[in-house]
Amino acid sequence: MKSLWSDRDAEAAVTRWAEDGVGRDVALRVYTSRLLGGDARLVLHGGGNTSVKTTMTDITGDEVDVLCIKGSGWDLGDIEPPGLPAVRLGPLRRLLELDALSDEDMVNVQRGNLLDSTAPNPSVETLLHAFLPHKFVDHTHADAVLAISDQPDGEAICADVFGGRAALVPYIMPGFALAKKCAEVFAANPAVEGLILLKHGIFSMGETAREAYERMIELTTLAEKRLTSARPRPIVTAPKSGDIAPVSRVAPILRGLVAGDESKRMILDFRATPEILDFIGGADAERYAQAGPVTPDHVIRTKPKPLIVAAPPDGGIDGFAAEAARAIGRFRADYGAYFERNNVRQATPRIALDPMPRVIMVPGLGLFGLGNSAKAAAVAADLAETTVRVVAQAEGIGTFESIAEPDIFEIEYWSLEQAKLGKSAEKPLARHVVAVTGGASGIGRATARAFRAQGAEVAILDRDEAAARDEAAAIGAIAIACDVTDAGSVAGAFDRIAETFGGLDILVSNAGAAWQGRIGEVDELVLRESFELNFYGHQRAAQAAVRIMRAQGAGGVLLFNTSKQAINPGADFGPYGLPKAATLFLMRQYALDHGADGIRSNAVNADRIRSGLLTDEMIHTRSKARGLSRSDYMAGNLLGREVTAADVARAFVDLALAEKTTGAVLTVDGGNIAAAPR
Ligand code: ZN
Repeated sequence: MKSLWSDRDAEAAVTRWAEDGVGRDVALRVYTSRLLGGDARLVLHGGGNTSVKTTMTDITGDEVDVLCIKGSGWDLGDIEPPGLPAVRLGPLRRLLELDALSDEDMVNVQRGNLLDSTAPNPSVETLLHAFLPHKFVDHTHADAVLAISDQPDGEAICADVFGGRAALVPYIMPGFALAKKCAEVFAANPAVEGLILLKHGIFSMGETAREAYERMIELTTLAEKRLTSARPRPIVTAPKSGDIAPVSRVAPILRGLVAGDESKRMILDFRATPEILDFIGGADAERYAQAGPVTPDHVIRTKPKPLIVAAPPDGGIDGFAAEAARAIGRFRADYGAYFERNNVRQATPRIALDPMPRVIMVPGLGLFGLGNSAKAAAVAADLAETTVRVVAQAEGIGTFESIAEPDIFEIEYWSLEQAKLGKSAEKPLARHVVAVTGGASGIGRATARAFRAQGAEVAILDRDEAAARDEAAAIGAIAIACDVTDAGSVAGAFDRIAETFGGLDILVSNAGAAWQGRIGEVDELVLRESFELNFYGHQRAAQAAVRIMRAQGAGGVLLFNTSKQAINPGADFGPYGLPKAATLFLMRQYALDHGADGIRSNAVNADRIRSGLLTDEMIHTRSKARGLSRSDYMAGNLLGREVTAADVARAFVDLALAEKTTGAVLTVDGGNIAAAPR
């Protein structure tokens, strides 16, 4: 591992942050924190923390000694000065005189001594930083350090590797007791450059930002050298078993099973690399993969153990589904037993967390990270990938060993984490996956935005791939090129949805376009072209969606954009209205044939929407034909109000939430009696 320190970049950071009134110490603290946070071998997702001791002026003009330490909710990789809240150092240091301090009291003292009362909570490792005398203190969960310390004889290995440069601290849960122990170990070894927290991570200290950072790099490099100089004992891979079913078929089955009876849906994030496949296929995978986390705080995102299911043979997916259901049943039961046997020892009984896995390993295929959002699923998958790397390294020099089960439980059921339970209400469509065809413009675009705003994960399907990508980037969705008039394109697009999110819950079949022509004269080709998009396009998308929904076995929603033309034909709009009328019946057929699968099917009839369907020229022609101004034409309804794409989008969301409604048509037209469904 090489130092990335650059005098030029460091000075540039000082100049940059000076513009915001930030002093040199904090600017340099931001600079090296980002160097650490930018390397996944050192820091992942909110892991690690850094601090600097400096002085600041309070409101009375007095200079006060403060500790600027990483606050919760910030990542080292992109931290900014507000992510390093300043806490008065004196009161923190006085806590060293105490024999014990509860986590709640510790948090209270830390918050009570913030210079800015609106700052985020200082790290739970604040006191550890405060008790060490050095100006700069850096903490990471470096892979290489974990690999050599996560061993039955990790203490002896670390003593040998680090010699007098770093002192060893036995495993203690983060908090006051650990901070006090570290202060004690340092006092006994005042010449060390760092502390190795066995089975947890590493601290490095220095008088300058550069010194602390480069000590982190040097100490981690010592651990890396130990790993390369050892004769690696590669994981023995079990023989591969025949053809494996594709991710797009396996993921919806697993997603449906983890949704369980409570219908707590999850998002799945799939990963497959040669290292992951070797790891899962290893002859000893049941032992090393189930041995616990590589560093304690992963457990909150990954649970103590992953679920390992059987390999899914390409020709026997039903057998796989049945076996996976039994495996999830066993996982739940094991997790329940783990909770019970550890909870009985707690002074304050804990609230059981949901028993579903956060990492699922599938031999021959890869691994899935699970979470209540795509982001959370990706974090679980990233941590699982790190685990694969660290455990494989650990097995290369010995035997991977995690902290003991009671210690794992203590972290997973930490009082500070328990206090957060139930406090952040989820949005109504969180954990749901929505696909919107024609999602890059007009009604589709407004609909994709409306579902995203309700917490759903959204796939924008559109023929215009560039527009879909721009829109997806703007709202945090994914973009998939899809032409609903092409069966292959539709199949590929829905496979991509299942590969990306694990499945699908709601389809908004919206892609369409208007063709005109007097019915007695119109060319048959025009009619066929319109049917291809305005009827068969809906059927293809709905069929692909139903296939995924049935594999999940957790219901689903189909929503069709049918337009008022489906009920009330407009003059010369036969080529548009006829396939839309057929699509209205298609909606009812799905409601009838797939109600037993828990799949609901509904439609929205919109009219005179200012959207891609109506060009300015069309509005001009139609309003002129009726002798109306443009705005009078657009608002030519009972309410006299213009109907927008956002109004239609809200109707789709309402139908998605209307759990007992199927086979229904909802009009969004400001009132048009001639087009009222009857
Ligand atoms: Zn830590």
